[in-house]
Amino acid sequence: MENDCIFCKIAKKEIKANIIYEDDNFIAFPDANPRADSHTLIIPKKHYKTILDMPSTLGNEMLDAIKSIAMDLIKQGKAEGFNIIINSFEPAGQVVHHAHVHIIPRKKGDRLKILE
Ligand code: 5GP
Ligand code: ZN
Repeated sequence: MENDCIFCKIAKKEIKANIIYEDDNFIAFPDANPRADSHTLIIPKKHYKTILDMPSTLGNEMLDAIKSIAMDLIKQGKAEGFNIIINSFEPAGQVVHHAHVHIIPRKKGDRLKILE
């Protein structure tokens, strides 16, 4: 737990979030400022500043979480495709310094410009 880290507080359930997925090491919840409907964030429960700090042994579990959430979004008709984005360090747009994965649902013709 890092002091004043908003995502640590969400992981510890000190701040309420609508948790849509949870396993031993990851949780997922809606982005507070969604770039598309059902824009979802997946975070490790433990504080790592970027994915460079994460042990690679968490990679399989992180991919399982991504796949489970993305498949649910597709099954529920909330996505026809999706972008996975991991912003790492400020020049790449990282604002919250607790590693996280964005899953951004896409629909045909949505013309979303997600890197702008
Ligand atoms: P970054 O630019 O660091 O990759 O993205 C951080 C994301 O976290 C942003 O999309 C922002 O909307 C989201 N975010 C920041 N604070 C909170 C919060 O307290 N709750 C939730 N659910 N999302 C947050
Ligand atoms: Zn944290």
